Amino acid sequence: MTKALLLDLSGVLYDGDRLLPGALEAVAHAREQGWLLRFVTNTATKSREQILDKLQALGFNVEAEELFTAPDAALRYVQARGMQPYTLVHPSIEAVFGVPPEAPDCVVLGDARDGLSYANLNRAFRLVKQGCPLIAIGDNKYFRDGDVLSLDAGPFVRAIAWAADAEPVVMGKPSAAFFAEVVNSTGLAPENCLMIGDDVFGDVDGALQAGLEARLVKTGKYQPGDETRLSPPAQTLTSIADLETLL
Ligand SMILES: [Mg+2]
Repeated sequence: MTKALLLDLSGVLYDGDRLLPGALEAVAHAREQGWLLRFVTNTATKSREQILDKLQALGFNVEAEELFTAPDAALRYVQARGMQPYTLVHPSIEAVFGVPPEAPDCVVLGDARDGLSYANLNRAFRLVKQGCPLIAIGDNKYFRDGDVLSLDAGPFVRAIAWAADAEPVVMGKPSAAFFAEVVNSTGLAPENCLMIGDDVFGDVDGALQAGLEARLVKTGKYQPGDETRLSPPAQTLTSIADLETLL
């Protein structure tokens, strides 16, 4: 039976600019075995084209339609509703949201790094407090940045949502709607899809909640004991190199 493999990128296939051992072989093996592949990332600091170029440079052959990103999902969400967003996002993806409107009617908040200044967060807060929807690009707590962990968008989304008594709309992982969109693109049932990721909540719990199978890799942002943060504990793989034993 045809099955689909959903792969997180950072921390699973590569760490920064470093290819993780066995990643190329694992992806090639899955393709040979007839698995449909989907690459799913919350990365909000690179455009689709930059992500595809990076994968290509590392040696992965990924078709554009196999890549699903959180910024794309957020863009589709606001476009489908004709919304004019105030975007607090990384400069590399700002352009896809178009010219900043004079009178925004929603807030799109992502991993904007130094763009997350007090002044900018305050503008976002005031809009959300007035009733503008808050759309989050991912809900990750932190990401691995070289040797250290760094704050992701999640904590800033929570800060604004908490202060404004608002419920954010999360685009990307772990949103069930996002997983459903990726699953639908395969034409398969969720239980025939397997998600592999290094974020126990964003990747693994999100996929399980959406009815997929999931495995946590012990690379990337993984911290010892992360698997026990879910009940029952998440099933693990030492790394993507272990995938062959599973397929
Ligand atoms: Mg990751």
